[in-house]
Amino acid sequence: MQVLCKPTDATPDVHCPMCGQGFLLYWERSSRDQQDDTLPNILQALREHHSYPGLSPHPGAPFNIPNWTGLPQFSAAALLGGAAL
Ligand SMILES: [Zn+2]
Repeated sequence: MQVLCKPTDATPDVHCPMCGQGFLLYWERSSRDQQDDTLPNILQALREHHSYPGLSPHPGAPFNIPNWTGLPQFSAAALLGGAAL
């Protein structure tokens, strides 16, 4: 399932396990079970951000998990999850 992650300092849905950066999550599907199944993939992707050298490991702009080659605001997760980008 596709998820849109949007960096936030407010009230995040998930925190990066490495640095604590918060993210709002916009889901392609609203099923709670599917969201729970997908959460480990999100945490893994956030961890992988830290495996590349750089000053800021996470993108400053919204991004999709799994990777989406189009514009984030046109992804299914953004449209179906109601993200206001
Ligand atoms: Zn992090």
